[in-house]
Amino acid sequence: MDTRFKDVSMNGRMAYVIMCAEAFVASEYPDRDWTFLSRKMWKATSVNWGDWAAEYSTYIPDVFLQYDAYDCKELGPFLTEEEFSELRSLYSGITDGTEDDPADEVNYMLNKPFELAMVYGGKVIGDGKESEEIIASAEKILTKHGISLPDYTKVLFSSRDELNGWGYDFDGRFLSVILNSKQMWNDGNDRIMEIMNRLDDSESDFPVQCPVCGEKAGHIFMHRYDERRGGIWIWCSACRSFSHMSGILPDWWENMHGIKKSRLEAVPRYPDERNNDIDEWVNTLLKHRR
Ligand SMILES: [Zn+2]
Repeated sequence: MDTRFKDVSMNGRMAYVIMCAEAFVASEYPDRDWTFLSRKMWKATSVNWGDWAAEYSTYIPDVFLQYDAYDCKELGPFLTEEEFSELRSLYSGITDGTEDDPADEVNYMLNKPFELAMVYGGKVIGDGKESEEIIASAEKILTKHGISLPDYTKVLFSSRDELNGWGYDFDGRFLSVILNSKQMWNDGNDRIMEIMNRLDDSESDFPVQCPVCGEKAGHIFMHRYDERRGGIWIWCSACRSFSHMSGILPDWWENMHGIKKSRLEAVPRYPDERNNDIDEWVNTLLKHRR
């Protein structure tokens, strides 16, 4: 039985569902700008769910894509004409907005926070089973794509003891991977290279302390392309300092399964999405080397 959310309020669960939806769109379509949608989603934890759902539903593909042109009367309260065009191009080619079709994953995932608001609209929470089902269905899609699940411990602060289980309002934007990704990756600080030395230290356990900002968020990842050539990425998830090199990799490195080679680029955006799995892999390789 899944007991992770046992003590988490409905509002905290909403935050987690939004984190799942964000993780999906940001991982699968990282080149598109999801900022607008993310801002709209995150209003859910700080306003009444009924009011929020009335607005947010306008943006979900299965509703939004029914409009071929900007309809001032219907859409005016929620979208400017420019936002309408931007949202159309955001969805272009990745969703048809087919209602209740799990194969349309963009639509499916963006619907999850809305579903959660609707299922409890004006109702008592009971055992909260419906919310756990929504979480499970969202996580299933993430797992299918090899996307790391969001860290549920980040929503534990919103307790089920608050407001009969609903949880106090909070501004959840600090939990957003989209709104907080604005900090640019920076390869200008060579101190990040000190993380390389940690590979020689038999006590090292990744993530390690970042030599630039001091957070325990330093990672290393390698990928071997052939016998002679490979890439090395060293980075910090907190301050986004990084370094990328290519060359001959150490003998002990073995490629990690499930890495999409096509997504590897100089900036460690993709390895950082999978940093939990990568740290675990590196720790395992180091342990066996010892
Ligand atoms: Zn750092």
